[in-house]
Amino acid sequence: MKVLILGSGGREHAFAWKIAQSSHLDELYIAPGNAGTKELGTNVNISVTDFEAIKTFVIENAIEMVVVGPEDPLVLGISDFFAADDALKGVYVIGPNKEAAQLEGSKDFAKEFMMRHNIPTAKYKTFTKDTLEEGKAFLASLTAPYVLKADGLAAGKGVLILPTLEEAQQELESMLSDAKFGDASSRVVIEEFLTGVEMSTFVLSDGDGFKVLPEAKDYKRIGEGDTGLNTGGMGAVSPVPFAASGFSDKVLNQVIIPTIKGLKADGIEYKGFIFIGLINVKGEPFVIEYNCRMGDPETEVVLPRLKSDLLDLFEGVGTQTLSERDVEIDPRTATTVMMVSGGYPEAYEKGKAIYGLNAVQDSIVFHAGTKADGPAVTTAGGRVLAVTSYGKDMESALEKSYENIQKIEFEKSYYRKDIGFDLK
Ligand code: ATP
Repeated sequence: MKVLILGSGGREHAFAWKIAQSSHLDELYIAPGNAGTKELGTNVNISVTDFEAIKTFVIENAIEMVVVGPEDPLVLGISDFFAADDALKGVYVIGPNKEAAQLEGSKDFAKEFMMRHNIPTAKYKTFTKDTLEEGKAFLASLTAPYVLKADGLAAGKGVLILPTLEEAQQELESMLSDAKFGDASSRVVIEEFLTGVEMSTFVLSDGDGFKVLPEAKDYKRIGEGDTGLNTGGMGAVSPVPFAASGFSDKVLNQVIIPTIKGLKADGIEYKGFIFIGLINVKGEPFVIEYNCRMGDPETEVVLPRLKSDLLDLFEGVGTQTLSERDVEIDPRTATTVMMVSGGYPEAYEKGKAIYGLNAVQDSIVFHAGTKADGPAVTTAGGRVLAVTSYGKDMESALEKSYENIQKIEFEKSYYRKDIGFDLK
């Protein structure tokens, strides 16, 4: 099989690493890729949202499967684009269509979906510019802290959690009346604040059957003890100890099965990953969000725990025979620790030479923001490398990740030293 992966982060390097091990693979391309994916396939300089250029490349290279990493091309309708074009007939796209991607692309759509199908989630109401005053009154009927969510995609910045009613009302006004997040905040979801520990579960669906992949917990804040600004993710662990049997049964029965049934009932044929962000409130799962793709850095711990052939599963998605295939999970723990550029998630410098990659032993280094510069590898983003390790438990896996991360150097690098701190 000839495969094209779209994306350039640690998630896509993890996909490339796993797909490169498949006996079904003939040729692997990654657009645009990074210095890590270049070692596993051919990087192609095409933007993930340039559908016409992707089409030309797919036809010229007889690509049979396109694996979509990030959400943007999905929300923009890359699956529909392929389905509508006779020249692309028969090419499998691993990623849902535009309507299904609304689960991530519109928080109001996702909340309505959950209400309609009785999937546990925080109580909410949605407001627009015309209903600003009702929104302020609704906030006054809630207790602090207040959760405001821009309806559309806002690069992970569109959720505000505010301690006082005054701030919440002000922010609501700036989102709705002053377009704080542009068009993404033309509608705002206000929801009840839930207290608990978060984790994520991942499902692969072929539009009929589905397979549950290992769960994971990621660490979003830049600072230790979960403090400071939000990032794309600073590390992750899988499995999540509190998700053992009782809780995961509830997740399956109260969240995953109703989600799959709900999609079918709504006439949505979902082919791809469903990433379900959950919060454990006193032992009960509530859905915080859906994403229509895998997470980053969660992929860097989920795929290493998948023993089955990923291309075989993807062929199951393409041919709607996923139910006939086996998903085998490695019982070991996988952890990943992200090395980032100093200053991230605010201003940071790029182009720093990375040293010590060859000294790493017994860990997998997934590249996120890196660039091949001749034989050298340089930094090219905020999140630079994810160092993933296996262990018999979380402590031993983390020990290896930390031992190896210390062998890698670039100017002004930073990483959190407390990944998994709340699970010990
Ligand atoms: P991301 O892109 O970072 O995945 P997002 O912008 O799509 O996130 P959400 O995942 O909905 O937004 O929310 C971001 C974070 O805000 C959550 O991970 C969670 O920590 C917090 N949060 C969201 N909703 C609630 C809630 N109802 N109660 C408590 N915390 C919440």
